[in-house]
Amino acid sequence: MKHKKNVALVAHDNRKKDLIEWVEWNFETLKHHALICTGTTGRLVEEALQSKLGNKTGDEGRFPIRLLKSGPLGGDQQLGALIAEGKVDMVIFLWDPMNPHPHDVDVKALLRIAVVYNIPMACNRATADFLISSPLLDSTYKRVVKDYSEYVSRGL
Ligand code: PGA
Repeated sequence: MKHKKNVALVAHDNRKKDLIEWVEWNFETLKHHALICTGTTGRLVEEALQSKLGNKTGDEGRFPIRLLKSGPLGGDQQLGALIAEGKVDMVIFLWDPMNPHPHDVDVKALLRIAVVYNIPMACNRATADFLISSPLLDSTYKRVVKDYSEYVSRGL
């Protein structure tokens, strides 16, 4: 992992307000990293960051976010694929523990693949606070990923 991290942000509808507050609170830190978001979350994050940036122009006034599809339309799966490709360093995923979702299987798959690749992942604000304030965020960090080569070559 490089100094600049690829940080994925996803929130279910009942958790979007929480995530946006968190993004605004941590704006100064987040602006040094690259953000990847599912569709609706990303648009809200963009709005929040734009209002923080105000009238700044040039690089100061830009905050590029990679927008994926909306979660239920495949955004969680896209994010999972990016994790498998090694393109995500950290996930903040505020999922809703009180309601079922049409894409529950996608949510489960995303949580699973993040564990497979040993990606730091926060599913609530307190853990997100700990991750964003970790000294490791601004240093290079080598994630240990279990060696799956035996599994890959099984039966050959
Ligand atoms: P959304 O998707 O950002 O498009 O709302 C989030 C999710 O439900 O995974």
